[in-house]
Amino acid sequence: MKTLKIAIQKSGRLNEKSVEILKNCGLSFENYKSSLISTVTNFPLEILFLRDDDIPEYVQDGIADLGIVGENVIIESGSEVTYLQKLGFGKCTLKIAIPNESHITEIAQLEGKAIATSYPVILEKYLRENHVNADIRMISGSVEIGPGLGLSDAICDIVSTGGTLKSNGLKPFAEVMKSEAVLIGKEGSELLPEVQELLQRIRSVLRAKE
Ligand code: ATP
Ligand code: ZN
Repeated sequence: MKTLKIAIQKSGRLNEKSVEILKNCGLSFENYKSSLISTVTNFPLEILFLRDDDIPEYVQDGIADLGIVGENVIIESGSEVTYLQKLGFGKCTLKIAIPNESHITEIAQLEGKAIATSYPVILEKYLRENHVNADIRMISGSVEIGPGLGLSDAICDIVSTGGTLKSNGLKPFAEVMKSEAVLIGKEGSELLPEVQELLQRIRSVLRAKE
């Protein structure tokens, strides 16, 4: 049997649920915070613990056969991978937000405006589809402070409860994409019998939760 590799987030919002779903599939493995790789003792599988941003590319390049990562990260990375299964956790929405006092009411009014984001690829695609030319300012974190610092007129970021927006004087304006964690595979990996077995187990865990 081939030993598969699955890449999951090492720490962060998706780590715990990713570990949980694999354990619920009956897989036995050690989950030490310090190790980057863990061997499953009762299935031909190794688990790689990575930063989420690296997962799509690792899967595309076949370094990992499978991965668990947010759809937002997959699309932003531009990697070509196969979506095997939505996993129902890590749900969030990528939104454009504007200062509370902004007079912008339509997407067309973003024309020529500066928008700060950590998701330039997704935002660029959205603006193109809406025929808007805006100045995308890439920031890797704390995007919400952009407008307050005079760095941008709007932001595009992940919003779950809206609390961070509110405390920075921002209001949601437009929905760019919805995202959740998905199981991805290298193209063609779904044909491997070990992948099919794992996929079946994951699907029955998800069904049991319904
Ligand atoms: P890493 O150190 O692995 O790069 P990160 O800081 O980029 O981690 P996290 O904040 O742990 O990422 O978020 C991982 C994923 O969780 C996001 O890409 C997104 O798909 C999902 N997610 C769900 N809710 C939220 C939220 N409220 N804010 C940010 N991400 C969220
Ligand atoms: Zn990340």
